[in-house]
Amino acid sequence: MSGLHTENLTKRFGDLVAVEDVSLTVEAGELLCLLGPSGCGKSTTLRMLAGLETPTEGEVYINDTEVTDQPPYKQDSSMVFQEWALFPHKSVIENVAFGLKMQGMDKKARREKAREMLEVMEMGEFGDASPTDLSGGQQQRVALARSLATESPVLLLDEPLSNLDKRLKEQMQIEIKEIHSQFQRTTIHVTHDQDEAFTIGDKIGIMNDGRLVQVGPPREVYNNPKNKFVEEFLGETN
Ligand code: ADP
Ligand code: MG
Repeated sequence: MSGLHTENLTKRFGDLVAVEDVSLTVEAGELLCLLGPSGCGKSTTLRMLAGLETPTEGEVYINDTEVTDQPPYKQDSSMVFQEWALFPHKSVIENVAFGLKMQGMDKKARREKAREMLEVMEMGEFGDASPTDLSGGQQQRVALARSLATESPVLLLDEPLSNLDKRLKEQMQIEIKEIHSQFQRTTIHVTHDQDEAFTIGDKIGIMNDGRLVQVGPPREVYNNPKNKFVEEFLGETN
């Protein structure tokens, strides 16, 4: 089996069970939206997938290789956080090109690719700017451009659009969907926004209280909520 999967992933912080017994499969090339209320364990799950948090129990596999607790640079995954630190001493374009350097692409090709991704994110005119001169939303678009530009087979996005205004958010949802169709990377996109999840997800995974409650194509989840929690959660308007 390729793609990404976890077996019985659990994370405890002292007495608190942040993630409990999560077994999740994302097929190669699929975009799964992990959806759930604040505090349900989405970020902790993603951080374990990225090797940034050690699971208390369970395993993570990427393309059939166990990568549990391996640091991100060894695992072929690329992660974008809600608040992602760009290198302040590098220009915007150097930030985007940085991941490509790690992958061994030559300088000219790196610049071209970085420029193309900045254009996609409507940040083309900011290539020479310093990240410190950008707004939070702009920095986030640069971080997204950097992650999308890399050719890592697994993309982990933690609420990447949550700081953007409504118009840009809707536009970026479409961009993410298009970029996904184009590059077909195995993607987990975390959000607490159900409209966003239903707009972009090939599949939706719903979490509550540390557990993965239901996984399936959007229509199936919407039409057949597995329990009261899913039914009520999907019934809420944002
Ligand atoms: P979400 O991303 O869905 O909002 P999180 O994964 O951030 O949820 O958090 C899940 C639970 O774990 C929350 O109760 C949170 O307070 C707790 N938690 C997360 N990280 C830590 C940590 N480093 N130490 C202690 N508790 C944590
Ligand atoms: Mg979170």
